[in-house]
Amino acid sequence: MNEPVAGKSLEPLCYLRWLRRFSTVATQITACAAAIALGLGCRHTPVRVTALRQVQPCPIVPVATAEPTPHQTNQEPALPPAAAPPQWVSATNVPYDGWIDVRQWARDIGIPIPALAMTGTNCVASLKFPTGTLDIRLGRHQARWQQCELWLAHAPLFIRGQPCVHGQDIQSTLLPLLTDNGELPVTNRVIVLDPGHGGSNPGARNIATGRWEKEYTLDLALRLKPLLEDQGWMVFLTRTNDCDVTLSNRVAIADAIGAGLFLSLHFNDANGRATESGIETYCMTPPGLPSALVRGPPENPSVVLSNNAHDTANLRLAFRLHRALVNRTGAVDRGVRRARFMAVLRNQSRPAILVEAGYLSNLRDARLIASPEHRQALALAIADALSSPPPGL
Ligand SMILES: [Zn+2]
Repeated sequence: MNEPVAGKSLEPLCYLRWLRRFSTVATQITACAAAIALGLGCRHTPVRVTALRQVQPCPIVPVATAEPTPHQTNQEPALPPAAAPPQWVSATNVPYDGWIDVRQWARDIGIPIPALAMTGTNCVASLKFPTGTLDIRLGRHQARWQQCELWLAHAPLFIRGQPCVHGQDIQSTLLPLLTDNGELPVTNRVIVLDPGHGGSNPGARNIATGRWEKEYTLDLALRLKPLLEDQGWMVFLTRTNDCDVTLSNRVAIADAIGAGLFLSLHFNDANGRATESGIETYCMTPPGLPSALVRGPPENPSVVLSNNAHDTANLRLAFRLHRALVNRTGAVDRGVRRARFMAVLRNQSRPAILVEAGYLSNLRDARLIASPEHRQALALAIADALSSPPPGL
């Protein structure tokens, strides 16, 4: 099988020809990849495919090109003009920094001044915005917006008896969501779905079935593809069968086709802690903020990565996807989080999201993930979230 090739350049004409051919057979590739897996008797691929037309290997993908693609020149609708912001937003057009008194903030922007209430063990300040309710929990990173969990970079705290939230979180986490008008923040309807892992990198193991994460991520992508195509998306996969694809090549694929959105699909593992369960959705950490999750060497919060050009869109999309996934499946809500270490997000030149759609190390989650009906529900949730406007808004 062929893997995407990095470092290979094609003549423009050749590339366009390739791209046209690739676009026209794109629909077949998904089904054909499944055919390969099934035809070769892949033990691990729980793919249910009804129409197998032609056997195709993984596509060879050229390196990124500065040339506009046919999708960009002919098919991409421009972003709709921004809707007029809510009136209260004009009061927020000041840079926030340091710790901000939540009640003073409410006063400044003209929303009701929140009372403090105990919810379980949490002291909560509930701010009523025209677009939803924001619950800030004192001492905890997890806030709640529109009934979904959202990780703040700094845990709100009491300063001189007043509940305070950090200005960086107001600026980079709260305002992008509070002012979201529901438009899909994507420049075109070309999406790359990235089934995590593959080939010699199987990912986590399902403790209920013994099967691998790479199988479930591919199955989920194959279920999602036709749902998105029905909504007018042009859909590409970074792999369509059980092959190795490097992390950098996954990004190169998105570059090569001029994708407007990148979505990486994963299932989680808690390293032996069987109690952790639920869905987490990740996007890139904005410059200056600490991440919710750090792996490898200590991170440098001042670094500016190419994907940081899409911080607002990243967060809005991550929240939109996360809310749809949690609402449809009833999964434990582990929140929208930010991280810098994920290679498939760092170097993206487009909004990019990574979903951890449940814990393979948790028995309840593992059994659900093994169920085709549950994986279909996950796919439907993502497709709903990427419709415009999403249901319920
Ligand atoms: Zn994974």
